[in-house]
Amino acid sequence: VVQITDLHKNYGDLEVLKGIDLTVRRGEKVVVLGPSGSGKSTMLRCINALEDADSGSIKVSGQEITDRKININKVREHLGMVFQRFNLWPHKTVLENVMLGQMVVSGKSKEEAEKRAHETLARVGLADKADQYPVRLSGGQQQRVAIARTLAMDPKVILFDEPTSALDPELVGEVLAVMKSLAEEGMTMIVVTHEITFAREVADRVIFMDGGVIVEQGSPEEVLVNPKEARTRAFLKRVL
Ligand code: ATP
Ligand code: MG
Repeated sequence: VVQITDLHKNYGDLEVLKGIDLTVRRGEKVVVLGPSGSGKSTMLRCINALEDADSGSIKVSGQEITDRKININKVREHLGMVFQRFNLWPHKTVLENVMLGQMVVSGKSKEEAEKRAHETLARVGLADKADQYPVRLSGGQQQRVAIARTLAMDPKVILFDEPTSALDPELVGEVLAVMKSLAEEGMTMIVVTHEITFAREVADRVIFMDGGVIVEQGSPEEVLVNPKEARTRAFLKRVL
């Protein structure tokens, strides 16, 4: 579904991504770990073309997204993204928040969008919050709305960038539970997170990034329990 080859990205003189190769198959769950500044968010932002790559290739469902001739909005329809900050519209209800992208980006009718919004809100356990405004919801509930909004677009892959980092500790579990249920239903997911337990339980593959490169990757067992690289061991020692 996602195929990245020799991806490079600089900000001015700063080399942030120094040649990333990564292929994510349909249904695969990849967890990305790494210290602050290692380029995790930049990689996700390149995948959904929020950032332009300097060189290399990124294919999503076989479409080369670094090619300027393609319609990036078409590609983005296949790519869901969930951020640390939920970015819900404060003056719209939960239901309207989940409907909006479906109508504006996918061109669905109001009726279709509303039906799908009710389905995805139910799936994240928020059927009863449809008519509330976001401010009345906890952070965990708001993030679940953001996930419902993403699901409503029927993405082929969802990119998560530290979806629980902005939450109070007692709210982290409900968001991880929703993500876990998506994983069990076969969603293709690339998840940047510091939640090692989630990585251990859900990931098919764990990737450790540092300094703009993939230092090490493998099964959770290989990377989290028996890391080969000193940098991975040092990082795990700090976060575990
Ligand atoms: P964190 O765990 O803190 O989220 P990260 O691994 O996601 O870190 P990135 O956000 O990808 O790291 O940033 C990688 C490097 O690129 C950092 O040194 C950062 O300061 C720099 N950087 C990120 N975005 C920009 C930007 N828009 N302009 C300039 N530099 C940037
Ligand atoms: Mg980041």
